[in-house]
Formats: sequence, C-alpha cells, structure tokens
Amino acid sequence: MTDGLAGRPWNTTTARVAVTKGISDVFLMKNQVRPYAWGSRTAIPTLLGAPSPSPEPQAELWVGAHPADSSVLLRDGAEHPLRHAITDDPHALLGSQVAREFGATLPFLLKLLAADAPLSLQAHPTAEQARAGYDAEESAGVPIDAPFRNYKDRSHKPELMYALTPFEALCGFRPTEPTGQLLAELAVPELAELQATLAAQPGEPGLRAVVTGLLTADRSTVAPLVEAVAAACAARAGTPGPFAREFAMGAQLAGHYPGDPGVLIALLMNRIDLAPGEAVFLPAGNMHAYLSGFGVEIMASSDNVLRGGLTPKHVDVAELSAVVTFAPDEPMLIPAVPVGPGEHAFRTPTPEFELSRIVVPPTGRVLEHDGPQIVLVVEGSVTLTDAQGTQLVVEPGRSVFLPARQGAVWLEGPGTLFRAKDGLVGTGTTGTAAVTEPAELSLV
Ligand SMILES: [Zn+2]
Repeated sequence: MTDGLAGRPWNTTTARVAVTKGISDVFLMKNQVRPYAWGSRTAIPTLLGAPSPSPEPQAELWVGAHPADSSVLLRDGAEHPLRHAITDDPHALLGSQVAREFGATLPFLLKLLAADAPLSLQAHPTAEQARAGYDAEESAGVPIDAPFRNYKDRSHKPELMYALTPFEALCGFRPTEPTGQLLAELAVPELAELQATLAAQPGEPGLRAVVTGLLTADRSTVAPLVEAVAAACAARAGTPGPFAREFAMGAQLAGHYPGDPGVLIALLMNRIDLAPGEAVFLPAGNMHAYLSGFGVEIMASSDNVLRGGLTPKHVDVAELSAVVTFAPDEPMLIPAVPVGPGEHAFRTPTPEFELSRIVVPPTGRVLEHDGPQIVLVVEGSVTLTDAQGTQLVVEPGRSVFLPARQGAVWLEGPGTLFRAKDGLVGTGTTGTAAVTEPAELSLV
C-alpha cells in the first residue's frame, strides 16, 4: 500500500467511533438523468435498479454542481441544490485550498454516460481560450443560450472516460502514413485531391487543410463525397484487413449522419476500444467522439464544446480550428495506480479532478480528504459511517457528497464505488482523523 493509512491497526481495534473534527455531513444526492437521443435505454436504468428498458433514452447521469443541472442534497426530507450549498459556504464545503483555487464552485463534474449511438465530434478549449472566448461572446452580446454560442463558461473541460463495458471512441488524429494506406484501400476516386493534400503536407498542416476544407465546403459538394466513401466502407466492412473496423465504423456513422463531413473526418482519427477497467484522457484541443459503450466520466465542470461534425448542431469552423490539435497523436490511456486499500486512481495533469475506483476491502477502510468528495456506488452496497456513528447505506447508482469539513468516514462493503475529488496536490489524506472502526462492524 502506498498511502499513509497502511500502518494503522484498523483490523485490530475494537474501539467505538471516536469523535473527530467536523460535524455529521454525509449527504445522499439526487441526480438528474439527461435524455439525449443517443443514450441507451438499458445501461443506466439497470445500474439504478429501475425498470429497463426505460421509455426514454437515459444518456447521462450528472453528479455534481454544474449550473445546468446541479445535483440536490437530501437531508431530513428536505432538498437543497449542491450548487447553492457551495455558494452559501464555500470554505466549509470545498475547503480553503479548493475555494481559493477555483472559487465558490465544485471544480469537477462526474457522470455516468451510456451511448447507444455516436456522439458528435468535438474538442474543448484550453483555460486561456475559454476565458478569452467567453469574454468575447459576452462583450459581443451573444445570448448564453443562443444555438451558435461556443463558450458557456470560463473554464476548460479536460475529460477522463473510464469504461464500465467495452467502449468505442475516436480520439485524436492518426499519423499520415497509415491514414494514406486506409484511404488507398478505400479506393474512392473522388478522394484523390484530399489524399494528395495529406501526402504533400504530412502531419498537422495537411490534416488542418483537409478538415477545415471539409467543414467549410458547401454541403452539396461534400455530401456526394461522403456518400461515395460510405458506400466504399460498406463494401469493405466485412472483409478482413487492417482497417476492417474503421470501414465498419464509416458505414455505421454514415447511417446515423448521412452526408455529414464528420464521417470522413472520423476516418482520419484514431479509433480506440477500451476494455472494461481502462480509461482514456482527453486534454484540451483533442478532437474526439464517443461511439458506443457505458462508462464513468469525470471532467472539469464546464460546458464548453466546439463541435466538428456528426451533428445537426452549430459548427464554428474558425473557432474549432483555433482550438483543435491537428498534429497526429497517440490516445492518452491512463494507467490505474494503486493508492490505498482496494483503491486505484487514474491520474491526469488536471488540477480540477481525480477519479479513483475503490473495491471496498472485506475489512472495511477509512475515507478522508481535505477537499470535496463524491462517492458513486456502482456495485454491491456500501455503508458509510461517520464520526457520530451515523450510517448511510448507498446502493448502486446512488451517490453521496462529502464536504471538506466532514471528517473521515468508514466504508464497509461488499461494494465497488468511484471516488471523485479535486486533483490539487496537497489535499490528500490528512493523517489526523480519529475515526476508528465502528464497534458494530468490528471483525473481532
Ligand atoms: Zn468531450
């Protein structure tokens, strides 16, 4: 074990719960489901133990304090939006370091995401681009809910996706050489000019020219090209070969988005298959799309999306090309690092969040942190006991908010959960909490 708890005699103590810092502050949350058309009707309802398939798609479950859909804290029959609880008392709920760094707002947003159909191609800005873009649109008087508005807030939106089931995605651009081979195998005469551009300007310049060209061209010019490519993909999809999966994807995307230039752009990108338990990080500028699968996603709490195809929505090509990294890049798979009893973290360079997965050990374990935390149970049943002996039993699909002022809590399974917290260095386990194993859960 690598954390500071390893040496503690948790399994030998029979002490009652000791009073520690903080007050009883463990909140069960009520979270909203977003019914986007691409969502699965089975994955989220099944996890929640609700009737499945659901009448409407259940695309995303939002667990956080984002202004568009804040979770609600439940206490004694009352409901209080987490967002308001934080603005009322940011230092108690977030801790002084997080409040100082990010202001009176939860810096991360946790989601369950269940995709039955592909989402739009998209990229997210850097923090600097988000601030500049938001300020420019504000001073130009663009309404915040206008369909052509790019920047909804002043934050960047790096994302991490953890696969609960096999998960397909597009992530960044493929190097020029294998893309040249793919297009050669496709053998579509109408693609000759595009292939020549990529070959003449390998890497970033060729990809920038081709992608912005496809997005700015008249739809009546692009649609026949996309249809020719889709037909060639469909003809080759069943034939074994190095690009069989890409061709099947091209045909599938064209079925969802006929004539959309995103179908052709997708063929220039890395297609990845995450196995359950694998995670990918999508930094600022990375062009990506989720194709299918069920996962846990964490991101900086932002709604800044620049779309790049596979969508009927607004595409701002100039802004997109200012934000997107066109240079070919390997997808950033994030390894699971053991950080505590039954716990593996997926560490990224993002200060707003850190996601970890905890399989609660048979002996139970302590959970403590000097910043805000959300616990989302995905399997089994997890009992949290705080310093006063108050217990909460959390079932799959349910989540709990733990404010910074909350002292350590004791976890008991059997169960599996995801833990979301800020990613600031120095807000790790405090080593000062006095919670010990609850007497009623003692193994003695
Ligand atoms: Zn995204």
